[in-house]
Amino acid sequence: KDFRNNVKPNWCPGCGDFSVQAAIQRAAANLEIQPHELAVISGIGCSGRISGYINSYGLHGIHGRALPIAQGLKMANRNLKVIASGGDGDGFAIGMGHTIHSIRRNVDITYIVMDNQIYGLTKGQTSPRSAAGFVTKSTPGGAIEPSLKPLEVALSAGATFVAQSFSTDLKELTAIIEAGMNHNGFAFINVFSPCVTYNKINTYDWFKENITKLSSIEGYDSTNRAQAMATVMEHEGLVTGIIYQDEETPSYQNLVNGYSEEPLNQQEMMIEEKDLQELMKEFM
Ligand code: SF4
Repeated sequence: KDFRNNVKPNWCPGCGDFSVQAAIQRAAANLEIQPHELAVISGIGCSGRISGYINSYGLHGIHGRALPIAQGLKMANRNLKVIASGGDGDGFAIGMGHTIHSIRRNVDITYIVMDNQIYGLTKGQTSPRSAAGFVTKSTPGGAIEPSLKPLEVALSAGATFVAQSFSTDLKELTAIIEAGMNHNGFAFINVFSPCVTYNKINTYDWFKENITKLSSIEGYDSTNRAQAMATVMEHEGLVTGIIYQDEETPSYQNLVNGYSEEPLNQQEMMIEEKDLQELMKEFM
């Protein structure tokens, strides 16, 4: 079970995305699945390259569209562990509609956002996660809008698994991804993954100074949505750990009438070969 391949990532040295890649590989190995039982579907951005760096099925999709592809894949083959991944621009700007509806739909996949609070691939523009006042070439006078709050959005959209981690904490990040992959439903994981080249504000040191680990909060109960929301708001979203998990609500698959135990891709075709050929002619 080696989830490494021989493709060398072309992320900048020090980019937070390296740790996310390592954590996915470790989590998958810990779950004792095989590379052919994992699929990593990514969007566009520096982080979107991750699907090419893991020894598994993978697809580097189009901007903001990793989630529809990943959900379709899971519905077609429930035997696969499916991870969707991308950056904050991919998931919270162009892909935000899919993010919200995927959360409330609760298909059994894991969504990992590499949140660096800037657009890195296009050389440093303000993203939906950049703070008000953030100066970039797209906002030379400072961003006017406040940043999006992904944890609050996920909790209020009905997420059954919400977690956050920091890319330097490989142990916690691996454990969280493993828990997300084991969760029966949509697991939303936001990862602070610094862009060392373009974001000189939200650096490794900045996160270290500002993050509170939930494990240090006495009496924190990750099954209590109201407490989760209050804690996230109190700490302005800068918490790490499993923030909320609801293990009672069934996943989308569990609710689909007649959803077969047998993956679609392994079922007998219900159509004769000659009828299929006729059908195909319409698309030629
Ligand atoms: Fe990582 Fe930023 Fe470099 Fe992209 S530009 S690879 S996000 S450090």
